[in-house]
Amino acid sequence: MSFSALGLSDAIVRAVSELGYTQPTPIQQQAIPAVLTGGDLLAGAQTGTGKTAGFTLPILQQLSSRPSKGSRIQVRTLILTPTRELAAQVEDNVRAYGKYLKLKSMTIFGGVGINPQIKGLRNGVDILVATPGRLLDHVKLGTVDLSRVEILVLDEADRMLDMGFIRDIRKILDLLPKQRQNLLFSATFSDEIKALADSLLNRPTMIEVARRNTTAETISQKVYPVDREKKRHLLAHLIKEHGWHQVLVFTRTKHAANRLAEQLSREDIPAMPIHGGKSQGARTQALSQFKSGKLQVLVATDIAARGIDIDELPHVVNYELPNVAEDYVHRIGRTGRAGAEGQAASLVCIDEHKLLADIERLIKRQIPKEVVAGFEPDPNAKREPIQNGRNGRQQRSGNSAGRNNGQNRNAGRSTGSGRSQAAAGAHRQSRSGTGNRSNSQRARATS
Ligand code: AMP
Repeated sequence: MSFSALGLSDAIVRAVSELGYTQPTPIQQQAIPAVLTGGDLLAGAQTGTGKTAGFTLPILQQLSSRPSKGSRIQVRTLILTPTRELAAQVEDNVRAYGKYLKLKSMTIFGGVGINPQIKGLRNGVDILVATPGRLLDHVKLGTVDLSRVEILVLDEADRMLDMGFIRDIRKILDLLPKQRQNLLFSATFSDEIKALADSLLNRPTMIEVARRNTTAETISQKVYPVDREKKRHLLAHLIKEHGWHQVLVFTRTKHAANRLAEQLSREDIPAMPIHGGKSQGARTQALSQFKSGKLQVLVATDIAARGIDIDELPHVVNYELPNVAEDYVHRIGRTGRAGAEGQAASLVCIDEHKLLADIERLIKRQIPKEVVAGFEPDPNAKREPIQNGRNGRQQRSGNSAGRNNGQNRNAGRSTGSGRSQAAAGAHRQSRSGTGNRSNSQRARATS
């Protein structure tokens, strides 16, 4: 199947073929025609499936083929994302795919000056990609007009709810016109996501590619058992021994990310940290150096890593296993993207055996183990509590990524509720009504 067979214009097909996309991915094959009908969409898709083009291409097609109803300065499509990085990533894609069209796009997120954004909005924008907090700042200032939005996209909706954005989202929904097209993308389907979908979507087309909590076939996974104190030496050894040239490493905390990046740099492995405690400038710089191949290792916390999209990222390392098993799936989804081969290595010490068991239960497979000579774990090692943050509380590391630093209001998250129900099997597509709208107001309690 080709992109033009999906009903996309020559200008769009030309732009994607220049990017080397020869054929649509499964989510694109399903989402593009569905969005082109003008109806609502509920899509279960993990990052790495090509979901961004799945909604961006048909949006570009629709906006370019019908005249704007309002004046030039009104936003016609609003794409909400949980993090700054994802917003920037999505807008990069909008620009690349819309290269031959006369549509304007821009991003709005916190952590950077508001004035250039105000100026940009004044000049007019067709497609606005925003994080909820900063968008509401603009609403308060009266610098953005959402009254003519034709298409709304909630991207990575599950993450937005995890990060406590439900109230912001509801405030934004109240500002939009009633008549509009709604597209909701989520990797997981908790009760909260279902409630949001019920209240937001009108008879949506439902699509799911790759069942939730499965890991891509193209990712080879390995666990390296090792003592806590030897992890950094083992990581340096693996990087040097195998000549890994581009490695995304995950830690649980900002502090651990900083420390590890310093330690690796001292061992002549260029590394930088990326997390919510860093300024936007530092984050952008680290990411662009990593993307361009100048920086060998990027050490990230979970939420800062959302939106990091690097073509064919070859190696992801879990330097520390995540507290929430689903995050393992998100983390390693950074590699093996869109069919490329990838390797995911996890350095696991005695403290993390329970976390590993949770992950293996979730992905329904045992991950092969390899003990590296010289790094054999001490069989008599004593277990220690997992350090999650300064106060030892369970904490979402890098959690301020979606809003201005320090403005996040949901430092923890419930791990027990929801997150277990996926829409049914893979590659399902059906037309279905969603009935119950009454429980839509249940927002996650903030801590
Ligand atoms: P996403 O899931 O939207 O984050 O996309 C994952 C990666 O796949 C991005 O690097 C895209 O540039 C790439 N991609 C998206 N669609 C295609 C396609 N049809 N063919 C090849 N690569 C693609």
